[in-house]
Amino acid sequence: MYDYGQYGSELKKNIRDYWWESMTRLHDNIVGIDAAIFMHPTTWKASGHVDNFSDPMIDNKDSQKRYRVDHLIETYADELEAMGKKEEADTLLSAMDRLLAASDFEGLKKLIEDNKIKCGMSGTANWSDVRQFNLMFSTQLGSVTDETNEIWLRPETAQGIFVNFQNVQKTGRMKVPFGIAQVGKAFRNEIVARQFIFRMREFEQMEMQYFIKPGTQKEWYEYWKHDRMQWHLSLGISSDKFRFHDHVKLAHYADAATDIEFEFPMGFKEVEGIQSRTDFDLKNHQEYSRKKLTYFDTELNQHYLPYVIETSIGLDRTVLMILSEAYLEEDLSTAEKKDSRVVLKFPSKLAPVKLAILPLIKKDGLPEIAREILGSCRAHFRCFYEEKDTIGKRYRRMDAIGTPFCVTVDHQSLEDQTATIRYRDSMQQERIPISRIREIVEKEIF
Ligand code: ATP
Repeated sequence: MYDYGQYGSELKKNIRDYWWESMTRLHDNIVGIDAAIFMHPTTWKASGHVDNFSDPMIDNKDSQKRYRVDHLIETYADELEAMGKKEEADTLLSAMDRLLAASDFEGLKKLIEDNKIKCGMSGTANWSDVRQFNLMFSTQLGSVTDETNEIWLRPETAQGIFVNFQNVQKTGRMKVPFGIAQVGKAFRNEIVARQFIFRMREFEQMEMQYFIKPGTQKEWYEYWKHDRMQWHLSLGISSDKFRFHDHVKLAHYADAATDIEFEFPMGFKEVEGIQSRTDFDLKNHQEYSRKKLTYFDTELNQHYLPYVIETSIGLDRTVLMILSEAYLEEDLSTAEKKDSRVVLKFPSKLAPVKLAILPLIKKDGLPEIAREILGSCRAHFRCFYEEKDTIGKRYRRMDAIGTPFCVTVDHQSLEDQTATIRYRDSMQQERIPISRIREIVEKEIF
């Protein structure tokens, strides 16, 4: 688990808002909800999580280190590929996929042993048997502690959408195709929580379920694959940092699935999953709740259970993606002087602080003008006011938290109502009328 501080939580909120707005406001027919974290325990029976939400794990007996079997094998396949043995790596991965799909744990152990895959810590191949481990956290509801009161913390937000499908459809008179979006916390008792906020036990997801007519899933799957990739590119990240990883091994409920992978400093990894989930979830909720969840299509004059395309992105992973893309150490040395800066080149719309307002000195009426600027801007976007230290130091501090604009108020401002605006990425400065500051910033952040 990680806590976000004052800038991290602003960054996270801006990403969350950007996703929310682009889902709900910029698409026809997608609405947002906010479902509870605690749900009826039968929900997780219906979704398959009680029986299936587990990862095969293996322990190294010498180091006591526990690995997810797929991670262990995938890491080894990456090593093979790096050694130019791509074919061998591919054979290994497809064998793994086959065994995982068949839940053949003995076969998986044998595959690890046959390939002499070793533990990174002990360097030995002394492995335990492969075991399943359910990833859901449980707790007790109410004051009586017995098994019947055991409930789960949701491991994904999607099920809150499925159980509300009919409420939303009926109250909003929604017509298929339509979508329901949700952002919220999810909890998974990951065995190996590592790589900072990439994999956590408490994290946030941004999910959208798009309900469609059965038979149209291929088109809509392609539509959402394209749409979601465009969203990532709209963050100003170049397209060669992304790739699709189409699943060969499909979950039992899916008829197509892909991951959008981003090139993190530790390699290409999933940030978002897109799945064509058929009517698996609605069908099961209908069965377990004994409540009809069909939709009446007035055009076809027919009842059916809609099919679903899901887009599911981790908010924290997106924060990590944005951070790793934005972080730069720039060498600014000249012949006369060594110099460097740390800068976070966030897209302006995601930056925690948009505008720093800096009076050159703390007197002569400059703070008063600066505070007036603050007053005219703070209701529209996040500003930061600072009087302390030299202007150079203040600029560098703003670079380090990714503030795209700084304005400095100096003595000339008293005479001609202008100020100096400085752009974070180019470090260029120009003199502009104070009255234009808000407009310049707003043009960049929306
Ligand atoms: P992985 O293969 O990395 O475990 P997953 O396939 O289990 O991920 P999904 O169930 O598809 O992940 O969840 C959708 C998204 O939620 C992922 O793409 C990821 O961004 C995010 N996510 C999943 N698990 C975690 C976690 N433990 N910590 C942070 N984000 C997560």
